[in-house]
Amino acid sequence: MTRKHVIVPPFRDLDPELEVAERLLAQGNPWLAGVVAALPDEQAAANRLNRILAGTGAAPRLVVAENGWRVVQVTPWPGCGDLVSGASGLAELVAFGGWRRVKRCAVCAQAFCDRTSGCSRRWCAGHRPHAESRSSGVH
Ligand SMILES: [Zn+2]
Repeated sequence: MTRKHVIVPPFRDLDPELEVAERLLAQGNPWLAGVVAALPDEQAAANRLNRILAGTGAAPRLVVAENGWRVVQVTPWPGCGDLVSGASGLAELVAFGGWRRVKRCAVCAQAFCDRTSGCSRRWCAGHRPHAESRSSGVH
């Protein structure tokens, strides 16, 4: 089973945490879904995201990455690692590209992360038409 991801650099620098965030959103994880539900109130969404990171006991660590150094969230509790990874991936995406990169599908309202260079994606993975693959930097 091959997964075809259209990943525009440097979003891949945010992986694997961003991938976890996308997976949890696609699975309807209630915590991350709650963050997205607060939008377009960015402050409220940020508060919810911070509450997740604080509640899971996540603590920032500086680690070596492909293109330098990056901050990752580490949790002392086994079992909530996915949520910590996903929440920090979402936080990194917002820090990198803003809350406009966190969207809802135009068809089913499922939350997803927009990695397109033009921030032009409008559908979740399931409703994404093939024609959208032509999306470029055009707004
Ligand atoms: Zn959808």
